[in-house]
Amino acid sequence: MVRETKFYDTLGVKPGATDAELKTAYKKGALKHHPDKNAHNPEAAEKFKELSKAYEVLSDSQKRQMYDQYGEEGLEQGGGGGMAAEDLFAQFFGGGGGAFGGMFGGGMREQGPKKARTIHHVHKVSLEDIYRGKTSKLALQKSIICPACDGRGGKEGAVKTCTGCNGAGMKTMMRQMGPMIQRFQTVCPDCQGEGEMIREKDRCKRCSGKKTVIERKVLHVPVDKGVKNGHKIDFRGEGDQAPGVLAGDVQFEIEQKPHPRFQRKDDDLFFQAEIDLLTALAGGTIYIEHLDERWLTVGIIPGEVISNGEIKMIRGQGMPSYRHHDFGNLYIQFDVKMPSSNFNSVEKIQMLESILPPRKEQAPPPGDAMLEDYMLEDVDASGQRRAQGAVSLDDEDEDGVPPGAERMQCASQ
Ligand SMILES: [Zn+2]
Ligand SMILES: [Zn+2]
Repeated sequence: MVRETKFYDTLGVKPGATDAELKTAYKKGALKHHPDKNAHNPEAAEKFKELSKAYEVLSDSQKRQMYDQYGEEGLEQGGGGGMAAEDLFAQFFGGGGGAFGGMFGGGMREQGPKKARTIHHVHKVSLEDIYRGKTSKLALQKSIICPACDGRGGKEGAVKTCTGCNGAGMKTMMRQMGPMIQRFQTVCPDCQGEGEMIREKDRCKRCSGKKTVIERKVLHVPVDKGVKNGHKIDFRGEGDQAPGVLAGDVQFEIEQKPHPRFQRKDDDLFFQAEIDLLTALAGGTIYIEHLDERWLTVGIIPGEVISNGEIKMIRGQGMPSYRHHDFGNLYIQFDVKMPSSNFNSVEKIQMLESILPPRKEQAPPPGDAMLEDYMLEDVDASGQRRAQGAVSLDDEDEDGVPPGAERMQCASQ
């Protein structure tokens, strides 16, 4: 049972189709819908892409198994970028021109020795690992030349050039169409486009004549101290092998995972520290768990007065710089929390008044103004949202930011 049949439907085969049937179906479809032959038909180009995608998956026994079991979704997790439709086509029909080189004009380019595709893999690493540096052992599955038959697909001499097509895989046929004789290319029916034949009994047992087998390989990927997000590490020739082409490469891309405490910008780290009003005014200590085993004890000097949103810095406690020995800085932004306790006793108010600077004088209204008294009310959550929405509308209507808008946006975070 397969989960979905979309790829099979695209190729026009049944889900149980053999590799040879898939190959034949792809060849027929790809030749018919190739963009070079359908320059004015965008639908053909789309169909060509779909065919290539379907064939790329179904021709790979591992991918096909994943697809049959989990459908297209199952392929997403497999990693490894898909192959471009043109590349697959070129690989399939051989870049060397020959019988088909002329068929599609500029469609075929000759560009040095052919090489198997690069396997791309995103390697997600924590900020801790980037801080300390490490070597990751990553396993990948790749095709290698079958060691049992050295990539021949069968015993020495078992592989014969197809006599039906002289090894080209395609045949030119002629057909009478009314008064005209039509010449057309078709996949060789004797070898299903392989260009060669191996008798069933002579086929290599290990690879069943496919010439390659899947091997699991572990690569040691260096995550150097301070390596940047997006950094690429290449392993030349460690990718897929196939007969007659150069082995492909494997490329790892470092992706830094988000960190719960720190944000990184180049070699600097940013940390948000929440402190209470008393600490902000009268000093205290905060602790910062760093990216190695250390905790930084940071003293806030009594009486220095730290305002809400103020930024301070600890030199040299950022990230190590890549391939150097110096460190960036650690920036700390303070989030000063107001006390939630009540200050409505007369003594407490008087104590505050005796310590804090006096209230800032408000500009008095003109003597002839009419005065009305009001009290503030609390605002519920939906009221808060409305008020904030109103502020951002004002932002759009007017050039300037209305007074207080910034503060209200901060408060919402
Ligand atoms: Zn043939
Ligand atoms: Zn073999």
